[in-house]
Amino acid sequence: MDLHAALEQYFHYPQFRPGQEVAVRHVLQQRDALVVMPTGAGKSLIYQLSALLMDGTAVVFSPLIALMKDQVDGMNKRGIPATFINSSLSNDEQNIRQRGMVQGKYKLVLIAPERLRSPNFKAALASMQISMLVLDEAHCLSQWGHDFRPDYLNIAALRPQLKPNVTLALTATATPRTQISIVDQLGMPEAQRFINGFNRSNLYFEVLRASSNGEKLAAIRDYLNERKSEGGIIYTGTRANAEEVAAFVRDSCGIKAQHYHGAMDAQARAQVQDLFIAGDLPIVVATNAFGMGIDRPDVRFVLHHTMPGSLEAYYQEAGRAGRDGLPARATLLQSAQDIVLHEHFIKNDAPSGDELRRIHAMLQTDLPPTDSEVAQRLKLSETKARVSVGLLSTVKGALDDGTLAQIIQQMEQRREHKRSLLRVMIQYAQTDECRRAKILEYFGDSDGATDTPDAPQCCDNCDEIASLKQPTEMRPAETRTERAALIVMDTITLIAQRNSGVGKGKLALILKGSQSEDVKHFTQNRNFGKFNELPTKEIESLISQLLNAGYLKQAGDERPVLQLTQRGDIVLKARAAVNVKLRSVGATAPTPRPRSEGNTVEATRKLLEAGKSLEAIAAERQLAMSTIYAHCATLIGDG
Ligand code: ADP
Ligand code: MG
Repeated sequence: MDLHAALEQYFHYPQFRPGQEVAVRHVLQQRDALVVMPTGAGKSLIYQLSALLMDGTAVVFSPLIALMKDQVDGMNKRGIPATFINSSLSNDEQNIRQRGMVQGKYKLVLIAPERLRSPNFKAALASMQISMLVLDEAHCLSQWGHDFRPDYLNIAALRPQLKPNVTLALTATATPRTQISIVDQLGMPEAQRFINGFNRSNLYFEVLRASSNGEKLAAIRDYLNERKSEGGIIYTGTRANAEEVAAFVRDSCGIKAQHYHGAMDAQARAQVQDLFIAGDLPIVVATNAFGMGIDRPDVRFVLHHTMPGSLEAYYQEAGRAGRDGLPARATLLQSAQDIVLHEHFIKNDAPSGDELRRIHAMLQTDLPPTDSEVAQRLKLSETKARVSVGLLSTVKGALDDGTLAQIIQQMEQRREHKRSLLRVMIQYAQTDECRRAKILEYFGDSDGATDTPDAPQCCDNCDEIASLKQPTEMRPAETRTERAALIVMDTITLIAQRNSGVGKGKLALILKGSQSEDVKHFTQNRNFGKFNELPTKEIESLISQLLNAGYLKQAGDERPVLQLTQRGDIVLKARAAVNVKLRSVGATAPTPRPRSEGNTVEATRKLLEAGKSLEAIAAERQLAMSTIYAHCATLIGDG
């Protein structure tokens, strides 16, 4: 079949975009498919063209009612018989179109999923020949998604009765979990997945670390200074931050900027958006409310003041840069506090079993309290109260143990899911490998399978590796200190070769040649006791410096072990000098290391109050960063 001719004839496009043709061919062979492509990549064409080339009517479900009319008008102009049925039409009009649909007048019918609540409509669908069942925005099927719509489950439930020749699900939300959820719900686990178009080769990715809000603001000022008069979006995590940063950009950087968030009225929001799109306002500082319909092609950078809670949220926002295909930047400012904030949200957005029981009891009166009364009486956040009341509203009568267990399990799963999303985001922020490859690998885009995703300017990490490989950048290690640094790295490599790993404390003991039980397995290591003349504190300081300078990293959540970064690897292989200092460490007070669960949070609190950074606390207490984040979340929760 000449697909290109059909593409020309009906759509007047000279060629397919990546991923379109292969998906159309697959569907035309009546094989089910899940297409995952970013917004704007051209998913509609896949079902529109396929539908044209099939016998019968394609039924397309979409929740985006507002866009249906335009889409259908567009198709009609191209001579494609198509229509839509949704609640914006009068009942009469809906009936007329429904009859036309059953009579086979259309090649495509766009339908709002709510229509399936009508038994009459369901019967009509079941009585006709459906060439293809299409679920646009198919992530609405996934309970894990941010956009779950129960009406979508009706489509899945009805599918066996509709007996379409083929089923096609499309979405821009690419998490592996969502993909599995979609094909499972539709009962088509064998469906082929087509994942394309996530590589944005004109985007440059970078992460800048900051340890406080002040540092973030300073970083923003430097960043904007370098790119005066360029259009850009700064994303913040909270509304207050959006206002604060916008004021800072105006007052301290002297650049026109306005804030944008969900608490502004529609008119004020539209005004900011219009100014920005028209190019009359260079900078918008916004929460994630700034998204839909931001069609300014020449956004040169998207700068995140706060790290989002998931890589998909991040990539969607960052992806608003460089729509015109010209070089653009995706910059993330990251601090440990960002992680704490998300941990806090995750911990606190779901009620405990005990809280659910108490709320349920409160609701068992003729005049149940409002959400905010519940919140006040039980000292819960408004969100938590609202979520709980919502969950419990479906429970009729007594709250038996089984139901409660079910609700709790559901929420626990959600929480775990959110944690796993956050972990991926943190890994992106902290990786020393190619950031683009990380993104593509996570989304399952096959472009990520290659080592060098096609992009002329890739990311900060790729730049760093490239510059380190320049021989002029390196000089051989000469001084005693420089050689000591190499010995530390060498020891880690030797341990890793034996499939083992050690944390900072143990490594120091090995190098010291300690008699401790803890390190007796390592006496054969050729560097065991190499630093026996140095105080252990000083050895630890050396390791810390190598960590801070990015030659080493800590991997693993519960018991972190030291590993070489790519940078460390290059330096070690080249036996090159690194810039570290060996100095006598003064008499610092011995650190208390309480082990029992009860006061471990307390210990973190004391160190926090002493003004230590989270990284320093983790290092000092020899705990994983994730543990420290959890402590902070608990402390925030406790007020
Ligand atoms: P998605 O649903 O993936 O977000 P759309 O289907 O709405 O994206 O398509 C986005 C735009 O891309 C539309 O304006 C469409 O006309 C255009 N488009 C789609 N396929 C092609 C193509 N092969 N060549 C040129 N433009 C295309
Ligand atoms: Mg679409």
